[in-house]
Amino acid sequence: MKEGNNNYPQLLSPLDLGVFTVQNRSVMGSMHLGLEEEKNGMATMANFYGLRAKGGVGMIVTGGISPNLRGSALPFAAKMTSEKEMRSHRQITDAVHQYETKILMQILHSGRYSYHPFGVAPSRIKSPISPFAPWSLSKRGIQKNINDYAKSCVLAKQAGYDGVEIMGSEGYFINQFLASRTNERSDSYGGSYENRMRIATDIIDAIRQSVGDDFLLMFRLSMLDLVENGSTFEEVMILGQALERAGVNVINTGIGWHEARIPTIATSVPRAAFSWVTKAAKEHLSVPLVTTNRINSPEVCESILEKGEADLISMARPFLADANFISKAESGLPEEINTCIGCNQACLDHVFKRQVASCLVNPKACYEADYENMTTQSIKKIAVVGAGVAGMSCAVEAAERGHDVTLFEKSDTIGGQFLLAAKIPGKEEFKETLRYFKNQLEKYKVDIKLSHQVTVAELDGFDHVVVATGVTPRSVVLKGADSNPKVVSYPDVISGKVTIGKRVAVIGAGGIGFDVSEFLLHSNNSMSTNVDEYLGYWGIDKSLSSRSGTENIERKIPKAERTIYLMQRKPGRLGRGLGKTTGWIHRQMLKDGQVNLLSGVEYLEANSKGLLIRHNDEEVQLAVDHIVICAGQVSNNGLLEELKQTSVSVHCIGGAHLATELDAKRAIKDGINTAHKI
Ligand code: FAD
Ligand code: NAP
Ligand code: SF4
Repeated sequence: MKEGNNNYPQLLSPLDLGVFTVQNRSVMGSMHLGLEEEKNGMATMANFYGLRAKGGVGMIVTGGISPNLRGSALPFAAKMTSEKEMRSHRQITDAVHQYETKILMQILHSGRYSYHPFGVAPSRIKSPISPFAPWSLSKRGIQKNINDYAKSCVLAKQAGYDGVEIMGSEGYFINQFLASRTNERSDSYGGSYENRMRIATDIIDAIRQSVGDDFLLMFRLSMLDLVENGSTFEEVMILGQALERAGVNVINTGIGWHEARIPTIATSVPRAAFSWVTKAAKEHLSVPLVTTNRINSPEVCESILEKGEADLISMARPFLADANFISKAESGLPEEINTCIGCNQACLDHVFKRQVASCLVNPKACYEADYENMTTQSIKKIAVVGAGVAGMSCAVEAAERGHDVTLFEKSDTIGGQFLLAAKIPGKEEFKETLRYFKNQLEKYKVDIKLSHQVTVAELDGFDHVVVATGVTPRSVVLKGADSNPKVVSYPDVISGKVTIGKRVAVIGAGGIGFDVSEFLLHSNNSMSTNVDEYLGYWGIDKSLSSRSGTENIERKIPKAERTIYLMQRKPGRLGRGLGKTTGWIHRQMLKDGQVNLLSGVEYLEANSKGLLIRHNDEEVQLAVDHIVICAGQVSNNGLLEELKQTSVSVHCIGGAHLATELDAKRAIKDGINTAHKI
């Protein structure tokens, strides 16, 4: 067992959990990877979790595994019901137990969140996020489900897990019994709170009796439901104490049901926005408590533990972003951590689209075996042109493989479009990716030549040239736009080169049009870094006296500073292409700011009064001070065309290769994959 570490003494100190001692206070929280149901998925997961264990995480919780068929989230989703299923998990526990890390299997019964017609729940009330109404369980049915939980736990123990986490939050099966919102029963599992919470303690009783005392039971307790007719904090604490009496060893914090319309983990949520809830629970509960939600750096972990807000810190996505989060903290190298930026683009958005999870900043996540051959056998001289995220990821990966890499950048700083993204309120975390790349470029001794617009002649002598010259904003054909000072580009707006008036038209409603509109709504927006401001904006009660944490709390929405028209030419709802799990937040923010959303627009003329458009077959003059063009991008690949005339081996990546549907996820992955092809 390792001793406490001077770098992060709290985070890296061991903790006795009764059943076993964890080597440090970090928990890799449960996250469905989409591998669970894949062919050879168990072997890939074993490798994935094994690498996180090697990287020093204290305890891992697997993605949710159903205790029976009807509790599965999707048809054919992973369950633990048989010896055969049990045996397939042994490769995971064996891989993890090569190290000191402990591993729990999460048991997740989806209840009415099941995405199939056979789901069961306390009452037949359809959830807003599933097309199927669940079947209401009979009392016998309830007992069968309790038995299934216990049986799953016995199998998990046989599979070599050190314990289980019982998912009792996020609006799943057990949570559905707890809240009158979803429980209309009149038998001993419905009505009073005492009855509604009965299933939770019955499940824990049944499990404890089946597995004995030498198996850790962690319960994910919904401390704030954030939906109407959820539990009060007082009720939650009554349940927490009952669970302790029933034999739970650790309680994890759950915040918000999946159907809640309050962001709780997106990048626009401040770091550690909910550790105060766990702290409040500590006054009522005696087992070790885990806190969670938007914790992504060892500094934040240390501060939470130092303040005594929790005993353990759960982070799921940060371990996708960097398997070595803990070992880097241990070595006193936090600046080397590839920080999770909370974007959800390659993790949750993938899972909700039924794809395998990965990570925008670490595309190797869940595909680690494809990148095992790191060191090159044949060192090459490589020029990478353009230090956007595509160029930087390629340069770092190639240099780490042992190549001799020079990175040319025409501006005086690295980052490209990502520098602009990081200036958008709610995307402050994007700076961490730039910090990470800067650190890695130095670590692997990439020769960086800034303010250097490279010529073809200078590239002579390199074995390979990677063109990563990115994108430039698309200019639109609009009558009266030329030399009209009202018409401005989004880079000039975001970088502060132009001062924007009080009335603005935004042409183009893609991700950047939405971002620019949010940027223009408020000049002093610190909602994504200031917890109190964030709680006030979304109407969350810090005194914990309102039911669900939100009942009768008025949202404090600051008055918008500008009148904004956000427009697109195509018909239909704006923002359809935004992230699956985050698009609704952007739409809500613009609704709160009373942004005028117009689709099916024809842009007729930029004139002295503003912008003339045709909308709903009528000409409309928008009286605006500025017209911001956010009409997408085009590839900046002139250099590529020139290089094709030479004999140099040339590769083209990121936006320079294809501007359509470009995002940082593709750009970074392109860079890494190209570095492996050389
Ligand atoms: P670029 O970022 O364009 O980099 C190209 C680099 O090459 C630049 O630094 C340029 O100066 C340099 N260069 C060009 N020509 C030469 C030359 N001849 N010699 C030397 N250097 C040269 N993506 C997401 O995934 N999620 C988001 O939430 C998101 N939000 C965004 C918000 C905003 C406001 C913006 C503007 C973009 C956002 N993006 C987002 C998009 C993302 O930033 C880009 O897709 C990505 O950064 C493109 O990377 P790239 O390396 O291909 O190109
Ligand atoms: P985009 O998503 O392609 O949107 C471009 C917008 O401009 C569309 O609304 C389009 O709608 C309009 N447009 C296209 N051609 C036009 C023309 N000739 N004249 C007028 N309007 C035109 O591009 P983007 O907003 O620039 O974003 C770039 C990339 O960055 C995106 O692919 C996105 O993935 C990424 N990004 C992501 C996020 C995020 O939150 N995940 C945020 C920002 C950026 P019409 O054709 O209907 O008019
Ligand atoms: Fe974090 Fe984004 Fe990676 Fe998900 S995709 S783990 S949110 S950085």
